[in-house]
Amino acid sequence: MTQSHLNLEPSELAYVPFVSVDNMMRNVRAIGVEKALRGIAKYIEQDFLRWESFDKKPRIPAHAPQGVIELMPTSDGKTFGFKYVNGHPENIRDGLQTVTGFGVLSDLRTGYPVLFTEMTILTALRTAANSALAAKYLAPKNSHTMAIIGNGAQSDFQCLAFKELLGITDIRAYDIDSSASIRLARNLADSGLNVTICKTPEDAIEGAQIITTVTADKRYATILTDNMVGSGVHINAIGGDCPGKTELHKDILLRSDIFVEYPEQTRIEGELQQLADDHPVTELWQVYAGKALGRTSEDQITLFDSVGFAIEDFAALRYVHDLLPLTGHFEKLDLLADPDDPRDLYGMLLRSASADDKAA
Ligand code: NAD
Repeated sequence: MTQSHLNLEPSELAYVPFVSVDNMMRNVRAIGVEKALRGIAKYIEQDFLRWESFDKKPRIPAHAPQGVIELMPTSDGKTFGFKYVNGHPENIRDGLQTVTGFGVLSDLRTGYPVLFTEMTILTALRTAANSALAAKYLAPKNSHTMAIIGNGAQSDFQCLAFKELLGITDIRAYDIDSSASIRLARNLADSGLNVTICKTPEDAIEGAQIITTVTADKRYATILTDNMVGSGVHINAIGGDCPGKTELHKDILLRSDIFVEYPEQTRIEGELQQLADDHPVTELWQVYAGKALGRTSEDQITLFDSVGFAIEDFAALRYVHDLLPLTGHFEKLDLLADPDDPRDLYGMLLRSASADDKAA
């Protein structure tokens, strides 16, 4: 284990710890993916339990016909965090990821960043951890089978999180592209999960207590119709996360008790777009804090209308920040100017030119 400088005052830091994609993979392998999912879920729950101490706003989007780029800032009064993330469903045709991201954690007192990290892998981990955390409060007791519709980049992480946090043993996978389901089954072959590849969404949800929809399409899609959803299931709806992009038929929403991260954002981006502005919802932080009820009956359909909220990314950034001293898997990024005299920024530039001249 390498001792890092992360615990030093930011003003003493001559560099910003930077976690590349390579190092994120090293970090996850060092700790184990299941343990990382459990750890991130714990950090998310901790931050949801201090919900009122956070500065909250819907994320800031830049839309294009192909997709969206979003900035997701939040702060707890001591630390500031943000994620840059995109969602471009058509990217996959060009061999590009649908979702990529990076993020920063900063000390509010000095304004200095204390972490700069990739967040493509971290988003998949936090989204899965967040889904499984919500399902712990909402899914039927002793759930063992999960249908997963949409078998792309997020799906493996979702399956592993539900195995780790809920004890799911069986996965029923469906994708319009069967090669995506074959890829998922191959990746999970040694995970301890039994994966069945299904030919239709109806087949996938057969016998499932939990239905995860995690498709990518920039339109009002109908991945689940009303007649497909029986009483008593928990729906983990991940893919409808942008204006004009939903996955469920409206009638399912009308039969469900809907749980959300931050209503102000979910009403713009989630399945909730399809309902009246005052349709009742329950905020997950209230359920975690014991101020609101989660699942109350066996017949109830619970729906987590997930869009992804800044506090989850803040928690994931905190998790990585705390992990780095244990693993040492980061680089020192020369991101901050540090002249000997803070006012002599230009002098530092002049001296760097003469240092380069001498080296030439
Ligand atoms: P991806 O492009 O890697 O995978 C999407 C999969 O869905 C593809 O395999 C595609 O073939 C499949 N698909 C598309 N339409 C389908 C349909 N009608 N039926 C069955 N399968 C279908 O994308 P990804 O990175 O896995 O992300 C999936 C979705 O999750 C995206 O919409 C993304 O924006 C969203 N997302 C949400 C959160 C959140 O916090 N809620 C976080 C990350 C990603």
